[in-house]
Amino acid sequence: MEKQRWGIRKLVLVPCPFQGHINPMLQLGTLLHANGFSITVAHTKFNFPNPENHPDFTFLPIPDALFDRGITSSIDLTDIISCLNVSCKAPLKNSLAQIMESEKENHGGGQKLPCVIYDGSMYFAEAVAHELELPSIMLRTTNASTLLTYYSFPQLQKEGYIPLQDGMSLALVPGLYPLRFKDLPLANFKNLDILLQLMARTSDIRSSSAVICNTLDCLEKSSLAKLQEQCKVPVFPIGPLHTIVPSSSSSLLKEDRSCIEWLNKQSHNSVLYVSLGSIASMNQNELREMAKGLTSSRQPFLWVLRPGSLLPEDFDESIGEKGLIVKWAPQKEVLAHKAVGGFWSHCGWNSTLESICAGVAMICQPCFGDQTVNARLVSHVWKVGFEVDNNLVSIEIEKAIRRLMLDVEGQELRHRVISLKKKIELCTQEGASFCNSLSELRKCILSC
Ligand code: UDP
Repeated sequence: MEKQRWGIRKLVLVPCPFQGHINPMLQLGTLLHANGFSITVAHTKFNFPNPENHPDFTFLPIPDALFDRGITSSIDLTDIISCLNVSCKAPLKNSLAQIMESEKENHGGGQKLPCVIYDGSMYFAEAVAHELELPSIMLRTTNASTLLTYYSFPQLQKEGYIPLQDGMSLALVPGLYPLRFKDLPLANFKNLDILLQLMARTSDIRSSSAVICNTLDCLEKSSLAKLQEQCKVPVFPIGPLHTIVPSSSSSLLKEDRSCIEWLNKQSHNSVLYVSLGSIASMNQNELREMAKGLTSSRQPFLWVLRPGSLLPEDFDESIGEKGLIVKWAPQKEVLAHKAVGGFWSHCGWNSTLESICAGVAMICQPCFGDQTVNARLVSHVWKVGFEVDNNLVSIEIEKAIRRLMLDVEGQELRHRVISLKKKIELCTQEGASFCNSLSELRKCILSC
């Protein structure tokens, strides 16, 4: 009966078109669909998800003008996000107005209005919802600790800490323990003012009724409590979404499954999995050093090198003996494989959660954005990995690999990550904190 009542509520999801954002949004959609809501995904043409992987959803393409303006190849994410927020607004408004019109025709006005659930980076969706008097809810695909840094930037600017005097400073940031200035998500963006404006805008809740975070109490209790104090609307920790909705796949690249057969032939906990996610990449020199470090460590490895990353030619041969290189892996399956004993990761939030939930300890090499915050939590708070610098030479890479895969320290990290994994499993079981959060979210969606 109750399920039927939820069934009449249409949710329009507006994901940000990057792999690390699409995955949690579509996982959330799957979770809410399983709870009786109808799901429409309003997506850009740039990096659009494959509708065939989600037969229960309706897909609504929104023109995005990125191609026309020639910025799809831009490596500056702020350019892409800013462009999307300008160019997608009018088309989304038209599409939502049409949906509202047809709902009225079909249900004679007795229908609840659609609710818009948007990625915080796609803030135009909140503006559109507000103009059409539709309810909206923000999804954060980063964790609570990262969102808190965004809220603290205006004060840090006022007190003269930002712009940073020293981007590599190890001093603690006031009010953001245990983050150091070097961990703030400010690195590698070309224009600080534009970045700060964008962060302020993407985290501004405005007319939204709630915030959903892909995290959980047992990982971020105190940050979640601070975040709830900061936000005037309910904050729902609904995570880790990938374990709650394990079957859903929303890969933009084709997964190379041959690596699972290869892993089947490797011994228990012996393989190092190496991936920097969907955006970060290594330059030619870093690739060369990594290739050398991996081969000289003599540890088997599975390395994801996305299309476009070219290994120096002289390395192809020697690498083939101990390792496997693929363009894109079924990462969750790889991390869950018993042969995988460690993850060399850029610490994107999805990869971090996936690694912890699979009980795999990490070498953290954060590149930009929230990755530096996540790496600090991994190494200093949960103590399930250690951090290394960028631009390492091969001998340092080899040492780090041995430290994780062979030394006592690595074993301790593995024990700790397995106990954290078990703690998370308890939190997401029936009747535990996650279920309360989901039930409160349902109520919130039904009442807004
Ligand atoms: N991923 C994957 N195969 C790969 C590399 C990454 O399926 O070969 C997935 C990974 O499981 C994660 C997402 O891509 O869900 C990357 O998101 P994350 O937040 O870790 O990093 P981002 O790509 O946003 O930097």
